[in-house]
Amino acid sequence: MMNLSSTMKAYGCRYCVSPLKQLLHTTNHHLRFRPRSPSLFSSSFNNLKLPNFNLLLTSNSLFFTMEHLWGRSGMNTNKKMVEHLQQYGVISSEKVARVMETIDRALFVPDRTPAYADCPQEIGYNATISAPHMHATCLQLLEEKLQPGMHALDVGSGTGYLTACFAMMVGPQGRAIGVEHIPELVASSINNIEKSAAAPLLKKGSLSMHVGDGREGWPECAPYDAIHVGAAAPEMPQALLDQLKPGGRMVIPVGNIFQDLKVVDKNPDGSISIRSESSVRYVPLTSRDAQLQS
Ligand code: SAH
Repeated sequence: MMNLSSTMKAYGCRYCVSPLKQLLHTTNHHLRFRPRSPSLFSSSFNNLKLPNFNLLLTSNSLFFTMEHLWGRSGMNTNKKMVEHLQQYGVISSEKVARVMETIDRALFVPDRTPAYADCPQEIGYNATISAPHMHATCLQLLEEKLQPGMHALDVGSGTGYLTACFAMMVGPQGRAIGVEHIPELVASSINNIEKSAAAPLLKKGSLSMHVGDGREGWPECAPYDAIHVGAAAPEMPQALLDQLKPGGRMVIPVGNIFQDLKVVDKNPDGSISIRSESSVRYVPLTSRDAQLQS
């Protein structure tokens, strides 16, 4: 049975809303933005810049990101980044806060980019590492299915950041698999992970990174308790639905220009329930050639 419902999240509001909705609702969203630190907000407000339309087309985070607030407020450690996400209500789970503290984002972003700013960063090959608030959101949506011993698949694993977080959560008895179709990104994700707290899991094999077309999933280790897709599928990929365990959950952006982050639950009887979490903007889940030519 399909259960379709739609909610627009109020936290960190502006950057989770689609471009057109943003333009229509900027004032409204400003009113809904309630930082717990008024001094930070007022002192930084004048520094807000016009949207970066380049990022708009290639990222899941939209304009007026909190980069402008955080970049000027001493946001220079991973711990502070996590604290701010907690302060702004993006992270409510202690477990997610702990894993994001443990996996230092700076090891995964390209050199000379602001590692802890809440915005996506270009990683080459027409791809981006998602913004910290999107990583946090996806980790929280999947948290129940990332218990020790469970199996997780990260499609479009890019820098490997989220796959490393999954591996930490499912632990050495679990499996965390990353699939990415750009071989160079897979190689650099392995380098990144080797420098991180997830390195022992990579060495032991409970965490592995693979080159492949993520639209086909990774059948060798299926079924999965948790599937995360880091790129927007034009429609729900059947192979990924098939590789989800009954009781499992997939978080996947779906759409082209307008995209929704869908939360897909496979019920114990095998039926599927889908709800929309929020409007988002991700790079497309596509063929390697199409991505490199875009
Ligand atoms: N979640 C990752 C990367 C997000 S960008 C991070 O935060 O680091 C989306 C990624 O999906 C890109 O690295 C892109 O190369 C990859 N991708 C797009 N289509 C794909 C496909 N068909 N199969 C595998 N990876 C794909």
